[in-house]
Amino acid sequence: MNFTALSDKLTPLQLEHAAQCIKQADSIAIITHQNPDGDAMGSSLAMRHFLLSLGKQNVTNIVPTSFPDFLAWLPGAESIIQYEQQPEAAANALRTADLVICTDLGEPTRVAALSPVLAERFDAYAQSNLIIIDHHLSPVCSSCPEQIAYPDSASASELVFRLAWQFVGLQRGFMRGKSGSNQSLDEGRASFLTPDFATCIYTGMMTDTGNFSYNSCHPEMYSIIAILLTTGINKDAIYDRVFNAYTADRMRLIGYCLYHKMKLFPEFHAALITLNRREMYRFNAKSGDMEGIVNMPLQIKDIYYSVFMREDKIPPHQQPEANGAKVKAKISFRSQGDRPVNILAREIFRGGGHMNASGGEFFGSVDDAAKKFIEMMPKYLQKE
Ligand code: 5GP
Ligand code: MN
Repeated sequence: MNFTALSDKLTPLQLEHAAQCIKQADSIAIITHQNPDGDAMGSSLAMRHFLLSLGKQNVTNIVPTSFPDFLAWLPGAESIIQYEQQPEAAANALRTADLVICTDLGEPTRVAALSPVLAERFDAYAQSNLIIIDHHLSPVCSSCPEQIAYPDSASASELVFRLAWQFVGLQRGFMRGKSGSNQSLDEGRASFLTPDFATCIYTGMMTDTGNFSYNSCHPEMYSIIAILLTTGINKDAIYDRVFNAYTADRMRLIGYCLYHKMKLFPEFHAALITLNRREMYRFNAKSGDMEGIVNMPLQIKDIYYSVFMREDKIPPHQQPEANGAKVKAKISFRSQGDRPVNILAREIFRGGGHMNASGGEFFGSVDDAAKKFIEMMPKYLQKE
């Protein structure tokens, strides 16, 4: 197959910065966002496999909070340091690594209790100690001009793939120029294009695009999938492991949400689901069990907005700003078409995100957060 048609997305500045950072570093910490999803896990573990293929030996993957069981089979997941289980080891690795790589993450606030440590690394930004690979709308590291931030990219995993792809192109470019052949380029790519790497990238791309169904999908994405499939990975088995892996508890929780908890606001084409701590306990809800519930009401005809709120404890690092609140609501917003939810998330719920997929939080109960949302609907939602 001829793969040379894949365009270069990363700029020379981004690529050379990343290459320089990687070449110089002995110890490397890779971190991704809290409540990691398939793209967070896929992009950060794929980065691990890429670095190992380059001969890096001291590579530590860190996640700020636990990851769902349906992602625990990903190659390399067994080596991850989870902050909640090993706080000292996670913070130490993040503090002392020569290089920190953030994937699916562009700001230090989205790593739960590790925020202060990651913020220190952002503040101490120098030419060679931080790589950011993100596709969220508001990566905020204004002091990191070489950050690899593409909100138009459907997943961070795709960006990790492109970095590896172009990195090898950069390394081999000189030789290729001399010999006039692509042979050494293909050999270089074969060294990182392993089934483990491909599995992680594919999982991230698949989960962040709803199995390649969202409007963020672009033609080159399918070229990348074709390249990944040449490694022999079984895409159907990956789908099965991720999407057909619900626990009975999760299935019942979804039923409860849709039957008992979903409120519809037809005038605003909106749906709202809330879950308090008592309800989550009743259904034995674990990290990841609530994932995706927010998308379901959008399947209802004429519902274009969906909001899901769940109650969390307030972690110690947020207590000073929580004004004595005992709990907080973690909120997901989704919409369809030309109906932004990120403005509401940003202005009212301390969050942000993409036009059609945003998140935020509210210090207080989910009932109070719901009241606030209902109060704000006329201002932020289109009636049509
Ligand atoms: P989710 O609803 O899946 O948690 O998040 C959807 C999107 O909203 C994320 O990809 C991210 O862009 C954005 N998002 C979620 N939570 C927050 C938050 O607390 N702050 C900001 N700035 N964005 C968030
Ligand atoms: Mn992502």
